[in-house]
Amino acid sequence: MPDSNRRVDLRADPRADPAQPDAGDHRRGSVATEPGFKVTGSFRRFFENAIEGIYQTTPDGRYLRANPALARVYGFASPAALIAGLTDIAGQLYVDPARRDAFKRAMDEDGVVRDFEAQVYRADGSVIWITENARCVRGSDGAIQYYEGTVEDITARKASEEHIRLLATVFETVSDGILIVDPARIVRAVNPAYVALVGAPAAEIVGRALDILAPDKDGPGILDQAWNAAEVRGLWSGEATCRRAQGDPFLAALSICAVREDARPPSHFVVTCADISQRRMHEQNLWHTANFDMLTQLPNRRLIAERLQQAMLRAARQRASLTVLFLDLNGFKQVNDGLGHQAGDELLKLVAARLRACTRQSDVVGRLGGDEFVVVAPDVADRQGGHRLAEKILLDFAQPFRVAGQEIFCQFAVGVAFYPQDGETADELIRNADVAMYVAKKDNSRRFVSFEHSMLPRLAQRLRTENELRRAIERDELLLHYQPRVETRTGRVLGAEALIRWRHPERGLVMPGDFIALAEECGLIAVIGESTLRRACAQFLRWQADGLALAGISVNLSPRQFLDVGLVRTIEAVMRDVGIAPACLELELTESAMSVDMERAVATLRALKGLGVKLSIDDFGTGYSSLGRLKSLPIDAIKIDRSFIRGLGGSPTDRRIVEAVTELAEVLGFRVVAEGVETIEQADILRHIRCHELQGFLISRPVDADDLAALVRRWNAGALPAPPVADI
Ligand code: C2E
Ligand code: MG
Ligand code: MG
Repeated sequence: MPDSNRRVDLRADPRADPAQPDAGDHRRGSVATEPGFKVTGSFRRFFENAIEGIYQTTPDGRYLRANPALARVYGFASPAALIAGLTDIAGQLYVDPARRDAFKRAMDEDGVVRDFEAQVYRADGSVIWITENARCVRGSDGAIQYYEGTVEDITARKASEEHIRLLATVFETVSDGILIVDPARIVRAVNPAYVALVGAPAAEIVGRALDILAPDKDGPGILDQAWNAAEVRGLWSGEATCRRAQGDPFLAALSICAVREDARPPSHFVVTCADISQRRMHEQNLWHTANFDMLTQLPNRRLIAERLQQAMLRAARQRASLTVLFLDLNGFKQVNDGLGHQAGDELLKLVAARLRACTRQSDVVGRLGGDEFVVVAPDVADRQGGHRLAEKILLDFAQPFRVAGQEIFCQFAVGVAFYPQDGETADELIRNADVAMYVAKKDNSRRFVSFEHSMLPRLAQRLRTENELRRAIERDELLLHYQPRVETRTGRVLGAEALIRWRHPERGLVMPGDFIALAEECGLIAVIGESTLRRACAQFLRWQADGLALAGISVNLSPRQFLDVGLVRTIEAVMRDVGIAPACLELELTESAMSVDMERAVATLRALKGLGVKLSIDDFGTGYSSLGRLKSLPIDAIKIDRSFIRGLGGSPTDRRIVEAVTELAEVLGFRVVAEGVETIEQADILRHIRCHELQGFLISRPVDADDLAALVRRWNAGALPAPPVADI
């Protein structure tokens, strides 16, 4: 069908049908205007085989003729299919129908359109870009009879133009400076970022040699080297100091990339130039933060270890030795607690400055954190040298500091370790100096101590137990046992003493004598003490709720707890939280707790008394306090140490002491409790001399809360013989 159509169309006599093409306008000299001209022969082949689409259309938008190329461009199987299918050019062809109006307007006004670009729909609905050249053919009356023209698919060209535009936009807007340079190293183009970077107009840069980058600081050769590398390898990148138009330098990340097609020499070079001075500054700040202590500006643990490592390597090469001092401020906590953190910080800064001033430039002075400092002295030849350095520092620190308007004396405990004898790695040396410092801290007669290998096992054992104890708290391995206190007059259980135990996963039940001192040393006693108090009070309330008639519960306070400034507040808070009546709680203190600072001890006792709790002196007789001194203390009871009770049967002296204490206590208004009563004989004597209460294995060993409740019920019900003997 299409073929016969075309045949008919092409051979038709244009004059027979004015709407048919070839009714050409003679005056315009169209190929198809000769009278009687038939599109046959070579013209027909030209039409059929043309690469461009060729058409004739009516002004109102119908196709009269189309060649196969046009059908291909528009996605039709044949020209006939195109003519049949595309009957409304304005509505069907143009993506933007207004383009057809523009086309017609141009035809009306100029009779011709050139390079008329538009987006059009193909038969399958896809969109392509075309460009048209067309003219109109008028009849003898001057009216437009039809249009004829050519169409070219320029979709690919449009895409590449778009791509180029995109690249140009990148070039224009990217923040790195870009220079396009020719092989003679003449700058051919620069982007706005480079113009802004160097502060010179593009006109002053383009046409000049690339040397304007002037990376002079790094030696004149660097640009040559970079250029050669880019020529050979295609790409060079690195850092160099460049200059701005005014001459001031900046650190730049540079890259030079050769642009080449195939194996030919590069046609251009693309040079990128980014100002990295800010970034470098930022990196340096980060490095500083990671390596220095912000408060004192001294090297921190990381940098100390690094510098020590370097010093060790140097010493090893030169067969020299070096010294590490571990310094810990005494009494820093008191300054911090007493004068506030700001004063504490101020003191640390002054300490750092003095430490720096009394050491050599070549020494590393650093802060490990808190009140711990380290000095690494590479020039110290032997142990004597190390000791002299420690002595010098201690002498300098004998002078007071002025902080918050006060004179503060602040001294170090110093541990000394040597390389190579005392450690092979930086960590080991610092740790061993720390061990020696720890020994110095414990021993008040020595302010600096040199590390010895024999210190390690003792300390390791201690550290192990300390860690285990921390874990014990986390895992809730600490528990309380209770020992009853019996009133001698009535023979009834009045109260119980809470005694802590540690259920150790391997060692079994560990007694307080084996871990309370350690808990004090490593600062865990506060946590343990508070939780013991809370548990004991809560247990007492549970017993009461269960109908157990107990008057009170006793809880031990260690000397360190007693010195804690927060003690009174803690006890008050616990009692309030748990809801125990203060009169039911008795706190047991040893004499040693009071021997350090009597005045302060009395003040603390008064404050505790003010809470309404009862107070007793534990292990009485083992310390140095006289009854006369006890007179001034606001206490309720004394517990005579079991070493005196033990002698009651045999030693007349012990009996006389216990008698005297009981009598005097009576006068002073204290109750007297006998500890460690193990025999009926002891109990008889104590009852005879009118000791108020008895506590000991004779009545019961310390037992858990349930057993105590059972024991109290049986005991107070008279189920046990008096003088009672519990099952031991
Ligand atoms: P303490 O307060 O004088 O407690 C009495 C100690 O004597 C307990 O030892 C108890 O088991 C033991 N004992 C009682 N009756 C007899 C007896 O008839 N014969 C003998 N030989 N011993 C008897 P434990 O439980 O080993 O406690 C030892 C010390 O540990 C306590 O002495 C107390 O100072 C301290 N402690 C116990 N629990 C705590 C606690 O929760 N906190 C603090 N800070 N210290 C505690
Ligand atoms: Mg006690
Ligand atoms: Mg005791």
